[in-house]
Amino acid sequence: MASLFKGKRVAVIGGGNSGIEAAIDLANIVEHVTVLEFDSKLRADEVLQRKAKSMGNITIITQAQTTEVKGDGTRVSSLIYTDRASGESKEVILAGIFVQIGLVPNTEWLKGVVDMTPRGEIIVDERGQTSIPGVFAAGDVTHTPYKQIIIAMGSGATASLGAFDYLIRHSEETDVKAA
Ligand SMILES: Cc1cc2nc3c(=O)[nH]c(=O)nc-3n(C[C@H](O)[C@H](O)[C@H](O)COP(=O)(O)OP(=O)(O)OC[C@H]3O[C@@H](n4cnc5c(N)ncnc54)[C@H](O)[C@@H]3O)c2cc1C
Repeated sequence: MASLFKGKRVAVIGGGNSGIEAAIDLANIVEHVTVLEFDSKLRADEVLQRKAKSMGNITIITQAQTTEVKGDGTRVSSLIYTDRASGESKEVILAGIFVQIGLVPNTEWLKGVVDMTPRGEIIVDERGQTSIPGVFAAGDVTHTPYKQIIIAMGSGATASLGAFDYLIRHSEETDVKAA
């Protein structure tokens, strides 16, 4: 995705770990990155903040409430935010926006059924099995790090093989129950 914005100005909304990681990543490819954080300080780990601040083409703006994205219907041209300290409305000219304000797993219905992290991510073992034997999960919804397509695909393959392995080891039990 980032390569589409090579040599252009972009913004990252969100100053947590994923926002600052994205900004550092993008800064190696794009011309300039503006990070907009709603809070008065970044929430990212110190080491990430230090790295971002050491890069010459990242500007960090805190207390920034993004209010509008402008464009011509096909391309983004700027972003408007309110400076929460002064109440002033400001515009950033850019070609792309990356929203990194966190994702909430859609697992409310599994609460109390399978073990989950406090953030609602399903905890799986190395075979993709959840806390219930025979129930498997894969992808972004699990507690594994790096929410990326290739990781989700790999974990899908792992969970499928885990399920297959589970079935062949428990097929006699299942056959008896079915009979
Ligand atoms: C804006 C954005 C940009 C991204 N860019 C990249 C990128 O450039 N490269 C990259 O590698 N990754 C990128 N990602 C991450 C990537 O999209 C995910 O890692 C990947 O889609 C995870 O796949 P998944 O199958 O686990 O989850 P998802 O793709 O989210 O699929 C989950 C599916 O489950 C369905 N579902 C939800 N609840 C239920 C239910 N109760 N019952 C049945 N079905 C249900 C959903 O409708 C959905 O279809 C990006 C993500 C975002 C948000």
